[in-house]
Amino acid sequence: MNFADLKLTRQFLNAIGEAGYESPTPIQIQAIPPIRSGQDVVGIAQTGTGKTAAFLLPILQLLKFAQGESPRCIILAPTKELVVQIFNEAIKFASYTDLRIVAFYGGVGPKRQIESVADGVDMIISTPGRFLEIYSKGFVSTKKIKHVVLDEADRMMDMGFMPQLRNIQEVIPSKRQNLLFSATFPPRVEKLSEEFLLWPTRIEVTPESTPVETVEQFKLALPNLRTKIAFIEWYIQNHLNEERLLIFTRKKEEAENLSKFLQRSFDFGVRSIHSNKGQNSRINAMNEFREGTIQILIATDVASRGIDVPETSMVINASVPSDPHDYIHRIGRTGRAFQHGTALTLYDPSERFALERIESLAQQKLIDFNDPPVLEAFETPRFEKQQQARKIDRELKKRDPNYQGAFHEKKSKGSRKRRR
Ligand code: AMP
Repeated sequence: MNFADLKLTRQFLNAIGEAGYESPTPIQIQAIPPIRSGQDVVGIAQTGTGKTAAFLLPILQLLKFAQGESPRCIILAPTKELVVQIFNEAIKFASYTDLRIVAFYGGVGPKRQIESVADGVDMIISTPGRFLEIYSKGFVSTKKIKHVVLDEADRMMDMGFMPQLRNIQEVIPSKRQNLLFSATFPPRVEKLSEEFLLWPTRIEVTPESTPVETVEQFKLALPNLRTKIAFIEWYIQNHLNEERLLIFTRKKEEAENLSKFLQRSFDFGVRSIHSNKGQNSRINAMNEFREGTIQILIATDVASRGIDVPETSMVINASVPSDPHDYIHRIGRTGRAFQHGTALTLYDPSERFALERIESLAQQKLIDFNDPPVLEAFETPRFEKQQQARKIDRELKKRDPNYQGAFHEKKSKGSRKRRR
């Protein structure tokens, strides 16, 4: 099967050739024909499967050439990074057409974005909030919209965008083509798809929440954050050659501290991205990572969705995400498209429960990291010990509501003392 078999026209085949794609991925083979023929489609596919091209190519072909002033297609995505990533792909594929494509996202003032649609636009790629903001000020009309794409629908719902999606649905014409893409398909996304789509064709490229098969997944138990950092340092020193390394932390402070620490210890370019960083700084860091100017990128989950660097071959989870779906997304950053990747999850005693949830969702046990180094023994600081104990208590309580946590007992004794 090649792209020409999918009845894409010459101008898109040229652009695909220039992008270096040789053959379509399974989601592209399945999704391009029904989308091209105007059907509503639900695509359950993780990032890394080629889903962006799967919806962009047929829609761009349907839009054909620049026409009128108002947009005919809107693509909604949860984060600025993802919007920019879709935008870059769209520009690439549309390079042999005169289609006008713009991106709207928050974090920067809307002025330039408003100006970009003033002379007419065919496709808008936007976060839900920013689109509504510009729409409500009257700078963009929705009357001509014929194609709507909800990308990473599960994430949009997790981030609380449901009211905005409903508002947008109310102001776009009801006769339109709808596409919904999601990495997972829990009941709430199913409900959203029922609200938005009409008799959709359902396409699923991997069973729900199965991590990309090209990623080898390891785990390593370590007692505390300081030891995890020592391990990461050891790993970089002994194993990192040319490849790109992506490190995930749960909190932005951890990302920031780790980034400073690694910058001091190594010559490799290191940057961090999280919600406290400005829009431009996040996009710059990602571009530098993509180009290879920086080799190590540290990110929190909020920033993880937009990271699209196919060269990333290693992901280290410095902490275990409590939602196993976040894990799937994190490791989906490596082994993208057809490349091979490795993921390593470092977990402290309180994170073993979250790790079990991941193993149960992924339906496989992670492999024990072989030959871990002998690291200096760092004591777990009192504060971290308490945090771990609290977390273990919470987890055990979830399993057994009658469980009286060791930490809570101590705490209540302490508070009695204070009251006396
Ligand atoms: P996505 O799942 O859309 O985030 O795409 C993941 C990565 O795969 C991106 O870097 C794409 O540029 C790349 N890609 C998409 N389709 C193909 C293809 N048919 N052949 C090679 N790479 C592709």
